[in-house]
Amino acid sequence: MLMTETNQEWKDVARDFASRKLQMGTHWLEGEEYWSNARMLAEQGFLGITLPEEYGGLNQTLFDALLMIEELCKVCPTSGRQVYHSSIGIASFINHLGTEAQKKLYLPQITAGKLFVGLGMSEPDAGSAATDMKTTAVDEGDHYRLNGSKIWVSEAHLADLFVVYARFGNTGRTSDIGAILVERGTPGFTVGVPEENMSGEFQSALYFDDALVPKENVLTERNAFKALMGVYNGVRLGFAAQTLGITQAAFDRTVQYIQERKQFGKEICEFQGIQWMVADMFMQLEAARTLLYRAGMAAANNKPDKHAASVAKVYVAEAAKKITDDCLQLHGGYGFSKQYPLEWYYRCVRAASIAGGTVQVHRTMLAAEVLGRKFDQRK
Ligand SMILES: Cc1cc2nc3c(=O)[nH]c(=O)nc-3n(C[C@H](O)[C@H](O)[C@H](O)COP(=O)(O)OP(=O)(O)OC[C@H]3O[C@@H](n4cnc5c(N)ncnc54)[C@H](O)[C@@H]3O)c2cc1C
Repeated sequence: MLMTETNQEWKDVARDFASRKLQMGTHWLEGEEYWSNARMLAEQGFLGITLPEEYGGLNQTLFDALLMIEELCKVCPTSGRQVYHSSIGIASFINHLGTEAQKKLYLPQITAGKLFVGLGMSEPDAGSAATDMKTTAVDEGDHYRLNGSKIWVSEAHLADLFVVYARFGNTGRTSDIGAILVERGTPGFTVGVPEENMSGEFQSALYFDDALVPKENVLTERNAFKALMGVYNGVRLGFAAQTLGITQAAFDRTVQYIQERKQFGKEICEFQGIQWMVADMFMQLEAARTLLYRAGMAAANNKPDKHAASVAKVYVAEAAKKITDDCLQLHGGYGFSKQYPLEWYYRCVRAASIAGGTVQVHRTMLAAEVLGRKFDQRK
């Protein structure tokens, strides 16, 4: 599994930029800090790296975006996340499924760092069982009438546009599910109060109370769940790349710390118990990166492999929990202290086992593939 010269160049460009221009992140950037950072990334052309050039993107592959996200997250997780959102994250729903008019209207604002798009998929009673969603979009001629609610929408307070999954039919089947773009300010649509989560990121609910959304905002109507999940697999890889970058940052700091911190008269890296922890962390990082790159390369070569994506997602999420926990441990009291970013890294990577489908749900999908059986979760 070899990286091309172009892949390596993107990795180098991102690493060089991060070392020169980014502050070491210790929290998610908010408010004006968030938007000025977005503008700085936009000036470099990094926002929308995978989007077509006509909309301000750089037309690079999903794999190049993963490399960039990983590198930026090693220094400033917000920057990596901004590249993720604008390239292989939520913007990619518009890029892959949107009409020409939607792309022309929204993608240039995204690549310019002026528009953030939220994703409304999960509902209070439909998390892992996403296809149980109840939000409806009823056809009323030139518009759809939306009713229902969404939950856990990441950074909704920053978003002026939302990709919203809804039921466009009433058969009760998965084939009813499609997606529509809803702008903030649409009458009948409210963004809930931002709630801070464990990593310090804000999430909100979305409420639709007879919200009237123009018909031209539809991304896909029915029979689209497979297409939506196809795009979502890229989103999952992007989340894994962020997690890997943050975990590498924790590891790099730890390698430095254990060579400086002395106990019993010598650097703590001289203790064999600590050396073996370092070796284990290194092996897990190598394995996580290999699995993520494998899935990313397959997607970049137009052979997206949902099982490779699940393997990468689960492995990265679980290795990250273990590694950041060990890194925190090796910093002793400093690891637990808010003076050092270790405890933030630990809290950030915890999300990866839940967001984008829990590790249990991905295991069920993988077991079905290995065993060649379908496991109906309802029977
Ligand atoms: C940081 C973060 C950001 C998020 N951002 C967004 C966002 O922007 N937009 C959005 O729409 N959603 C978002 N989500 C929501 C996320 O997609 C859901 O939390 C996730 O799908 C799990 O759903 P749930 O929380 O309802 O858990 P549940 O589905 O209720 O699961 C609870 C537990 O039961 C287990 N479980 C459930 N079913 C099974 C089964 N069949 N077999 C075995 N175990 C099972 C799960 O693995 C889990 O451990 C985010 C979540 C997090 C943590």
